Amino acid sequence: MAARSWKFHAGRLLLMVPGILLVGWLAGYPLEVLAMSLLAYLAWHLANLWRLYRWLQMPGSEVPESYGIWSDVYERIASLEKDNQKQKDQYRGMLAEFRQLTDAFPDATLVMDAQRNITWFNQAAQALLGLRSPQDLGKPVTNLLRGPDFANWLAVQGQVKSPLEMPSPRDDNVWLTISAFAFQKDQRLIILRDNTEVHNVERIRRDFVANISHELRTPLTVLQGYLEMLQDNESPEVSDSVARMLSQTAQMQMLLYDLLELSRLQSDEIRGEEEVIDVPGMLMQLQEQADELSRGRHQLVFEVDSGPWLSGVATDLESAFGNLLSNAIKYTPDGGTIKVSWREAGPGPQLVVEDTGIGIPKRDIPRLTERFYRVGSDRARQTGGTGLGLSIVKHVLNAHQATLTIESEIGEGSRFTCTFPPERRLDESA
Ligand code: ADP
Repeated sequence: MAARSWKFHAGRLLLMVPGILLVGWLAGYPLEVLAMSLLAYLAWHLANLWRLYRWLQMPGSEVPESYGIWSDVYERIASLEKDNQKQKDQYRGMLAEFRQLTDAFPDATLVMDAQRNITWFNQAAQALLGLRSPQDLGKPVTNLLRGPDFANWLAVQGQVKSPLEMPSPRDDNVWLTISAFAFQKDQRLIILRDNTEVHNVERIRRDFVANISHELRTPLTVLQGYLEMLQDNESPEVSDSVARMLSQTAQMQMLLYDLLELSRLQSDEIRGEEEVIDVPGMLMQLQEQADELSRGRHQLVFEVDSGPWLSGVATDLESAFGNLLSNAIKYTPDGGTIKVSWREAGPGPQLVVEDTGIGIPKRDIPRLTERFYRVGSDRARQTGGTGLGLSIVKHVLNAHQATLTIESEIGEGSRFTCTFPPERRLDESA
């Protein structure tokens, strides 16, 4: 029966009052009959209220039979309950679908809260990382993926960071590529992919380049030695050719040195020790080297009186900063200015190397850190570059969770900015 409005029920009740009064008047006790009727009406409501209470305590039980306003109340509650159940079934279906979907993901996926505790993971995470549900829920993610590399990488907040490569906690021969994405408030989605095959191919390539570079060094040194002996030949024709050969061997030496340096940086086994670095002190030494390289042809301005220190690999950072500085000197014509500054900036400690040199075309900027990439081979050949310098810089910065930004205008100059995460900043007194 369709529910009637409460106005209908109230109207019916009001109509009954004169009837009761009439019966009472006829019986000679109008007030007593009215009081008795009201008492009976109250008892009926109380009984129904009790039935309603009992019914609500037993979900799923039959809707109690009643009439009048109570029949409408039961009907309304039953219909709300039905809608509620329908919605619940719908949500359950969606949740089951979502589970099936995430379990179909080939990559291990887990969710971490602000305290770095695991709040959810999919089936691939159980297989790849040996996570167990529900025992591992709520445990710190750093219990699972141990080591300073992961902790340092995770500590970098609010920046686009490149994925981390590390061995699986279950098997050292399995290599994982880990990416993290922030979502909702303070939550992070961590995706781990088995990258062993690519890692192995990459290692073979790296080892090959490192071995061949190493093997080439000895014959090249011998060749250079003989050429130096022939340098003072009386015949100008011979000494001219020898000088050219010597310059080519020097170029090859540089190339081998850079290749070996790059292989070393890419190798996970031979990473240098992290230490406290006095960056202003390091830059003072680099200033001396820059003076030697420029030989007074440029104005060198260093703004590094004081500034933050860093935690990192000193030799690697020195090589990266040195590369940026030597590039600025190489690609700035005589009379130009090179400015180096080291300061605490908003996003973290920053090294800026700025020059008033030849500049870089916009289209080349995104590719500069690729191995052997040069802007116009003629230009680079003149300067004797290897095309590996900025790859080295990029590698060193990646290993320190730092970013490289390149801005440049043709004919006006270039600015290279290295931004370190605040987590790497150390106070001078540390
Ligand atoms: P290279 O050994 O050739 O200098 P790098 O990897 O260091 O190799 O640099 C790649 C290319 O980027 C260079 O060939 C050069 O064209 C360009 N480049 C790098 N630094 C600068 C700079 N400060 N000003 C202009 N061009 C630059």
